Amino acid sequence: LKQAKRSNKVELYRKEVLESFRLRFSLETDLRHAIENDGLSVAYQPLIDLGDGAVVGFEALARWNHPERGPIDPADFIPVAEECGLIVPLGRWALSRAVKCLKDWDEITGQTLPIGMNINLSAVQFARDDVAQSVREVLEESGIAGNRLTLELTESAILSDPDRSARAMHALKALDTCLAMDDFGTGYSNLAFLQKLPIDILKIDRSFVTGMMQDRDSVSIVRAVLSLANALGMKTTAEGIETVELANTLAALGCSHGQGYYYSRPMSAADALEFFLQRRA
Ligand code: C2E
Ligand code: MG
Ligand code: MG
Ligand code: MG
Repeated sequence: LKQAKRSNKVELYRKEVLESFRLRFSLETDLRHAIENDGLSVAYQPLIDLGDGAVVGFEALARWNHPERGPIDPADFIPVAEECGLIVPLGRWALSRAVKCLKDWDEITGQTLPIGMNINLSAVQFARDDVAQSVREVLEESGIAGNRLTLELTESAILSDPDRSARAMHALKALDTCLAMDDFGTGYSNLAFLQKLPIDILKIDRSFVTGMMQDRDSVSIVRAVLSLANALGMKTTAEGIETVELANTLAALGCSHGQGYYYSRPMSAADALEFFLQRRA
């Protein structure tokens, strides 16, 4: 009986593993197909100047609406894309799509709009791709000025290969782009290292911003990050502002920029332009 039970368990385990492999493999295959056949899109979330409420730019966020499974969360497909290397073509596609969007908005409105675009770069892109070369090509092709682009990096991206990352970051700065440290506070913050890198903006992770309403510790952490950024001459962007109270508190603490559902969820390119034009009026 014992033997039978054990083999049942093994059988069950094998089934589960097999199932997760199948799921994973089909996700990978489907994602590859989506990248090659225009099956992905980009959503744009406004970045707000907390001082005067102006829209200063948008963060470009990849979206995947799977033909059978419906919308798939980036938290599910970005890690898969990173593991199988698909993040390189995906990232290039998102970059050129977002820059094209800025160019379209300039053309539609007949002016060079005073807004920029934030793009997420993953650690894998730093390790496997010449990111600066890709960015240079996209900028040259579009004619968009480098200073309208902000590249969002994570601590893990930089720490996985510090020397290579530092070189890539300096190459990106040479293109006049801005660099932001995304999800700041969630990784291994080596402050000495941070100081040596050409980072312009610290993005305070949503977990601390959300926590500010409930616990003093989060408020202390946010204060500390703000004064650190100030000391290092960096700007700050708070993620995940969901209420007017949070917006006001962060502005009072001296945080320069913010984004979150209180202002807007990520939206289509057309809605994003409309949002900008309405707030400017
Ligand atoms: P992230 O770069 O930290 O982007 C911010 C995430 O927070 C977005 O989630 C956004 O929708 C969400 N968010 C913004 N404001 C609020 C708020 O007020 N409340 C709540 N609950 N959430 C808010 P999203 O779009 O699901 O993206 C998740 C992550 O996936 C991103 O985190 C980024 O790390 C990654 N990602 C998305 N697109 C790309 C891409 O094109 N390339 C790479 N490498 N990563 C991407
Ligand atoms: Mg980001
Ligand atoms: Mg972030
Ligand atoms: Mg985040």
